[in-house]
Amino acid sequence: MKGLMQDWPLLVHRILDHARDWHGAQEIVSRTVEGPIHRYTYRDLDRRARKLSDAVVKRLGIKLGDVVGTIAWNGYRHMETWYAIMGQGAVVHTLNPRLFPEQLVYIINHAEDRWIFTDLTFVPILEGIQDKLPNIKGYVIMTDTGHMPDTSLKNAICYEDLLEEGDEGLQWPQFDENTACGMCYTSGTTGNPKGVLYSHRSNVLHAMATCAGDALGLRSTDTIMPVVPMFHANAWSLTFSAPMAGAKIVMPGAKMDGASVYELLETEKVSATAAVPTIWLMLLQYLEQNPDLKLPHLEQVVIGGSACPEAMMRSFIENYESDVIHAWGMTEMSPLGTLGTRKGGLEGMDNGTWWQTKLKQGRPAFTIEMKITDDNGNALPHDGETFGRLKVRGPGIAKAYLKGDGAENFDNEGWFDTGDVSTIDEHGYMQITDRAKDVIKSGGEWISSIDIENFALGCPGVAEAAVIGIAHPKWDERPLLVIVKKPGEDVTKQQVLGSLEGKIVKWWMPDDVAFVDEIPHTATGKISKLTLRQQFEDYRLPTA
Ligand code: ADP
Repeated sequence: MKGLMQDWPLLVHRILDHARDWHGAQEIVSRTVEGPIHRYTYRDLDRRARKLSDAVVKRLGIKLGDVVGTIAWNGYRHMETWYAIMGQGAVVHTLNPRLFPEQLVYIINHAEDRWIFTDLTFVPILEGIQDKLPNIKGYVIMTDTGHMPDTSLKNAICYEDLLEEGDEGLQWPQFDENTACGMCYTSGTTGNPKGVLYSHRSNVLHAMATCAGDALGLRSTDTIMPVVPMFHANAWSLTFSAPMAGAKIVMPGAKMDGASVYELLETEKVSATAAVPTIWLMLLQYLEQNPDLKLPHLEQVVIGGSACPEAMMRSFIENYESDVIHAWGMTEMSPLGTLGTRKGGLEGMDNGTWWQTKLKQGRPAFTIEMKITDDNGNALPHDGETFGRLKVRGPGIAKAYLKGDGAENFDNEGWFDTGDVSTIDEHGYMQITDRAKDVIKSGGEWISSIDIENFALGCPGVAEAAVIGIAHPKWDERPLLVIVKKPGEDVTKQQVLGSLEGKIVKWWMPDDVAFVDEIPHTATGKISKLTLRQQFEDYRLPTA
């Protein structure tokens, strides 16, 4: 027997309808690439997204299933583009401008993008690769007539001119909620990047899960600043979940340095924000250099994408009275998986134990099934100590990559192997110990590079830390700790190793410390262990 409830396909335009109808006057504030701060409301966003949507059909010929690339910062035009294109049943493919040009060429062609919407910033990059993009029909430059650049891009159209051609009376077409809606490639730290294809249904369900109280707990009284880019896994859903909640949005545009991020946090009274640790490192350094500055409005900082170091969490909570939610997820998971919010029943946990728990990557939001297994797929206990391969299942999680790539990551029971190694404790809090490919195997046992890095970051004078395995004749691999010092500060090998004593087991102690000017990062702002291992390929440990 079927239920007698209405059929209401979960299409993303419904989020915009809701924001317009019930939070129409709520603001969206953007730092524009052209310079000035731009302000308007959800009502304006809705009207312009409809106009644009009508125009992309009439002028660009975009139809259901077409893939349209965007290479743009977080801003109102980028948000309009998303809703305009997705609303037609076409697919928005966000391009990460930090990828190498060859990688961009690969993913644009692999995804079969038809048009590309670009911010002014990225016009030169596209000009340099357009000869290798035979299927692209043209480029929409996300600016007004007055700022249109002199460009060699073929069929370059001014965004505002295009938008003017559309009719704001457009009615969104209806289609199946499983229709593809967005696309994002993983950064390809192993082999070619792989395409993840979100659906309307997965985006709406994921945004609802994100809003929940024990997840990000978004409210219409919030002012939310997604510093995490829209090209990094849907800005962690905030461009869907914030309008769903009716919250004010602040878009930082191209400027993500400490001073610029601080300025918007302060002037717009941002209450919640989200980004990778690298961003917060820059903000905290800026605040340290300007001791009079505080963060009086900021209630919650979501930190994910890489492990949140203890020193960072303590600084926000103890120096600035802003709470931190440590979150873990993946492009393949839309991306949120776990969040470190306090669970009912743990209110009485002593402070020290709660800090250890809060530093973990968190517990699953509703819609996430999660388990750890050994290499043969046997489930492992949730005792907080046993490490295993982390596997996940749920309606916001990929069931395949585009064009059948990477099929080995999905098993026939529908579990996706995250490639992460983790523990899960008795309360359900998961802790990542490493990516499977970064784990250090010493004498047959695993050493967690993330733990060592976090403790090293607590040593005064250390700005950034990375641990990699180096070949060792006796132990197979041993850890090398690579350090970047804070500008103008000095720290010795003995001090760094001394700061780890008593915090990690003896046999995890790095065999050596190397000081470098810079640690390489991936396009999503994570430490690139692959590049670091290549840089230290010929390095010999003193113990070898
Ligand atoms: P990329 O394209 O760089 O792989 P993702 O954002 O999809 O981008 O990367 C997901 C991976 O990032 C996870 O599998 C995990 O290894 C790592 N990661 C994400 N959040 C955290 C976190 N809070 N702590 C540790 N690692 C994390």
